[in-house]
Amino acid sequence: MSIDIINLDKYFGKFHVIKNLNLKIKEGELVALLGPSGCGKTTLLRMIAGLETPDSGSILFSGEDKAEKKISEREVGFVFQHYALFKHMRVFENIAFGLEVKPKKFRPSKDEINEKVMSLLKLVKLEQLKDRFPSELSGGQRQRVALARALAVEPKILLLDEPFGALDAQVRKELRRWLRKLHDEIHVTSVFVTHDQEEALEVSDRVVLMNQGKIEQVGTPEEVYTNPASPFVYNFLGNVNLFRGRVENGKLYLGEIEIKEADETKSINNEVYIYIRPHHFEISLEKKENTISKGKIDHISPSGSNVKIELVDEQNQAILVEIPTEKYKSMGIKKSDVVFVSPKETKIFSVEDQDFSI
Ligand code: ATP
Repeated sequence: MSIDIINLDKYFGKFHVIKNLNLKIKEGELVALLGPSGCGKTTLLRMIAGLETPDSGSILFSGEDKAEKKISEREVGFVFQHYALFKHMRVFENIAFGLEVKPKKFRPSKDEINEKVMSLLKLVKLEQLKDRFPSELSGGQRQRVALARALAVEPKILLLDEPFGALDAQVRKELRRWLRKLHDEIHVTSVFVTHDQEEALEVSDRVVLMNQGKIEQVGTPEEVYTNPASPFVYNFLGNVNLFRGRVENGKLYLGEIEIKEADETKSINNEVYIYIRPHHFEISLEKKENTISKGKIDHISPSGSNVKIELVDEQNQAILVEIPTEKYKSMGIKKSDVVFVSPKETKIFSVEDQDFSI
C-alpha cells in the first residue's frame, strides 16, 4: 500500500509540531524518518497509524482517505521502542494474539493460526524459543517477537518507532541488517523512525530528513549523504568541520589561502561557510600548497579501519580529522605533534542558507 501525506498540519496547543508536510511513500518501500529529538517524527508516525488526528491535511492509503476508519481497520502494524509484549504469555501466544482476538467470522482456524505463527517464528528466527516467556528473552529477541506479532495480522503498512532504541550498539547493528533482509523478503510498506543517522542510511530505501516539523530533504541514503540540500542535512549526517570563507571571482578563499578542491564555487558569491568532513582532510608533517591550517594533536582514537585525530589550531579551534589506520601508522605521529591539514573535498553554503537550529 502506498502512503500519500498531503498538506498535513498538527498543533499541540499553540505549538505547531507538523507544518504543512507533504510526502509520498511508494508501495513496498522502507522509509526512515530521521531528525533530531522533538522534530515531530513520532507525531507523524502516530498520525499515519491513526493514533493522533491531524488538524488539517490528509493521509491517503493507496489513494483512499481512512481518517474516519477505526485504527483496527487501517491494516497497520506498529512496533514501539519498548517491546510491550504480554508478560504472562509465551512467545507463541504473543505472536498469535492478534489473530486470536479477531471477530469470529474473520478469525482463522486453530490449525491456520498455528501454521501462521510457526512461519513467522521461522521468519524472525525464533522457532526454538516459542515456549519462552518475554522475561526469558534478550532485548533483541523480544523486539523480533514484537515484529512477528505486528506482522501476524498481515498489515499493509508497518510502522516502527525507534524499534532498536533500547538495545545496545552491537545488537542494534545486527537487527538493522536483519530488518533490511526481512524487508527484502516481505516487501511490506514500512516507515521507520530513528534519530540515528547511521541506522537510517544503512537500513532504508529512502531517508526523510525532518527538522522542526518540516521536511528538509527526501532521497536515497546515497543522495542525501553526497548531495545534502541544506547545511542542516550536512550537519546532521555526520561529523563536520566548519570554517568561514569567501568566494571571489569564482575562487574560494579561507583567509588568504585559496582552496583548490572547492565545490560549486561559481554559483555563490561573497561570504560562505565551508564544511569539511573529517575524512575529507589530509594531514602532513610539512605545509602543502593546499594547507589551510596547522594544529597540535590533542587526542587520537581508533574508529574501525580509520583513526580519528583531534587537533587544536592556532586560534584554539578544534579540527577533527579521520585518516586510514595504515596512513596513521606510516606517519608515526603522536599526541602533541604539530601537523598540517589540507582539504581533499569541501561543501560550501552561502551564509544566508545557514541554519544552526540542531
Ligand atoms: P524524539 O526523537 O525525541 O522521540 P520526535 O521527533 O519523535 O522526538 P515528537 O515525539 O513527534 O518528536 O514530538 C514533537 C514535539 O511535540 C515535541 O516538542 C514534543 O514535546 C511535543 N509533543 C509530543 N506529543 C505531545 C503531546 N501529546 N502534547 C503536547 N506536546 C507534545
